[in-house]
Amino acid sequence: MEPITGSSSFWFLGLVILLALSLGTARCQLQLTTEVVDAADVNDYCMGFIYNTGTDNIQGWVVPPQCEKVVERYMTEGEYQRDVAATCLAAHDYFSSLRPGPTDTVVFDIDETLISNVPYQIGLHWGVNKFDPVSWKEWTAQANAAAIPQVLALYNELKDAGWNLLLLTGRAEDERNDTMANLLRAGYVSWFDLILKSEAEEGLLAVDYKSRRREEFEKKGYTVRGCVGDQWSDLRGKAAGDHAFKLPNPMYYIA
Ligand SMILES: [Mg+2]
Repeated sequence: MEPITGSSSFWFLGLVILLALSLGTARCQLQLTTEVVDAADVNDYCMGFIYNTGTDNIQGWVVPPQCEKVVERYMTEGEYQRDVAATCLAAHDYFSSLRPGPTDTVVFDIDETLISNVPYQIGLHWGVNKFDPVSWKEWTAQANAAAIPQVLALYNELKDAGWNLLLLTGRAEDERNDTMANLLRAGYVSWFDLILKSEAEEGLLAVDYKSRRREEFEKKGYTVRGCVGDQWSDLRGKAAGDHAFKLPNPMYYIA
């Protein structure tokens, strides 16, 4: 066997570098699939998933089973609360830079916006399991969802500053009493109006239903200046104002 000379060691080193680069590429491709192989990959993949739910880069998603624990940690170990606080601070800065007139309105969604359904979501394995309308009605009938504290503070600030606060929810009209009871219990003591989905609107996508209701509201002479919600369907569409504030929600998606 020939000893490794200067020039052959150069080529050997090149070969090693090429091999390392190709392995790196394979690993990168692996992380873009759901075939994650170890805890670090799971965490990277799932944090990427959470980011992409927030930006609406992926539609119609459900939480991948391997991400259940990562979503749980995101929701319960401080990161969600920090992201909510950052959104509320941005909304506070924006709306306090405006002087609301008597018709100026901010639209708030309810679930995962004013109040948190985390105890219900735990039963759905943080969104891994499909939404179940029967258990959802049982949960809302308890009227026991807690306020998201940073949003409650923002809400009260805007109310005190003279904004009309319109609540626009995808909850059904027959949940009105329970929803009002829950809001009052959570600390939301008043609102300008509360709009729920009528039976005739059941088949509509949230984005169309909310657009239509905001348009009707504006036809009465009011102006929507901005919306706050956890779904892009709360924020897109017609009569949505000049600024949208998107709260995090990596647990479920509503079109
Ligand atoms: Mg919501």
